[in-house]
Formats: sequence, C-alpha cells, structure tokens
Amino acid sequence: MAHTSQTPPRGHVAFVGAGPGDPELLTVRALREIQEAEVILHDQLVPEAILSLASATATLVPVGKKGFGPSMKQGDINALIIAHAQSGARVIRLKAGDPGVFGRLDEETEALDAAGIPYHVTPGLTASTAAAASLGVSLTKRGRNSDLRLLTGHDVKGFAEQDWRTLARPGAVAAIYMGKRAARFLQGRLMMHGADPATPVTAVENASRPNERHIATTLAMLAADLDAAELDGPAVLLLGLAPQAARALAIARQEVS
Ligand code: SAH
Repeated sequence: MAHTSQTPPRGHVAFVGAGPGDPELLTVRALREIQEAEVILHDQLVPEAILSLASATATLVPVGKKGFGPSMKQGDINALIIAHAQSGARVIRLKAGDPGVFGRLDEETEALDAAGIPYHVTPGLTASTAAAASLGVSLTKRGRNSDLRLLTGHDVKGFAEQDWRTLARPGAVAAIYMGKRAARFLQGRLMMHGADPATPVTAVENASRPNERHIATTLAMLAADLDAAELDGPAVLLLGLAPQAARALAIARQEVS
C-alpha cells in the first residue's frame, strides 16, 4: 500500500511529514504531494515557507495545536479528514517533522480505517535529527551511547514519567520533545536519579528555520537558562549533547592552560 510512485487515487489520504521547517528538508515525495494536494489539513507548526509550496487553488485548513495554545479536539480533526476525503478531493494531512513521532498518527489512521478510507504515510525528518545536525553532532556515538531515546516532556497525564535511572547514566542521550515547560521537572527527576549535574543539555529552538537558536547548558542550569532564554518557538532538548563548536572551544581552552 505504501507504494506511491504514482499519484494516489481520490478519496485517499496521504499523511505527509513536513520535516522541521526548512523547505529544503522536505523529501522529494512530500514536496510532490504538497504540490498536488487539493486540500491540506496542516499542523499549526508547519511554517508558511512550506505551505506556500501548495497550489494556489489548494484549500489550507489549519488543525492541531500549537504548544499549549487552544487546540482542536482530536475527534474533530478526524472528522474533518474523513469529510474531505469523502468529498473526493486529493487530501493530505501535513504534519510537522515525522508523522509517526509524537504526532498522534495512529489516532487519525485508526479513524480512517474505521471509515474505510485508504491512506499512506510519507515520513519526514523529525526535529531531533535536524537539531543534532545543526549542532554538528551525532545522536549516537560508539563507546558513548548505544541507544537513543525520543521522549516527550508531557503526555496526557501531565509531565511524563520515564525510565530515569537509565537516562541518568553517564553518556545517555535523549531528545526531549515538548520539553520546555517540563525542564524543571526533568532536571529534578534526573538529578534525583544520580545524573551528573554537569551533563550537557542543548536546547534547539526552531531547528532548521531562519530563527534557529541554540541554548547550550548543563543539567544543573537547565531550568534557569531556559527561563532566561524565553523560548517562544518549538524546541527540542538534547540531553547529553553539546554543540560541536562548544566542545571544540573547551578543548582549545584546555590546550592553552
Ligand atoms: N512530529 C514532530 C513532533 C511533533 S510534537 C517531529 O517529528 O518533529 C511537537 C514538538 O516537536 C515541539 O514541542 C518541539 O519539541 C518539537 N519540534 C517540532 N519542530 C521543531 C523545530 N523546528 N525545532 C525544534 N523543535 C521542534
């Protein structure tokens, strides 16, 4: 079903990953699907630079939510996707990053399954890989971390509980999505489980966009430094990683002294 070298038939929904925001980071397939769409139901996080690639006659429908702002109920989003698909339009559901990473993809595909509407998923670059690339660092490294975790700072029940002991180990690397408000909680939980307060953490705000910012800090300073930075765009926190440039500087300083 996932084979989509040709334009899918009408009444079929494409779930398309828009990547982190830079149009250059769209896949070729995502770009084609955006250009061919008649209706685009998109996350608020998808920037104008990508929406402007749509046909001038396409209908753009913002759905989903932005941060902690007002949100559309998931059931209403599902109903909207189904209604547009049943109208026979070429519909895409355009999601920030990769549709399958903290994107509630399953809730929407299950609704389509129940309605008997076919779909396929076009993957996208997820925020954490774009953020690590901007820092010039690798998410995994031989001898440092043999796994990589993608976490959410909060879930339906509030701040999300995790396997803190594993995350607190030296060398652990995790990408924390939706983590801005959870910074103090994350910091507290990790330190309580024995994490080194000097563990590097880098927040990457607006990864891949013109206004991208990096806040390189440590676990001990995380909440204070994020407060001071007053982030207002989407940000991913990379636990255990420092920007390549900062490490190079630290090494140079050691050599001088
Ligand atoms: N499906 C998306 C994640 C959606 S959850 C993906 O794969 O990237 C929303 C969270 O994603 C935000 O709170 C933020 O943590 C992260 N995010 C999305 N786009 C981002 C970007 N350009 N820069 C930094 N973080 C981003």
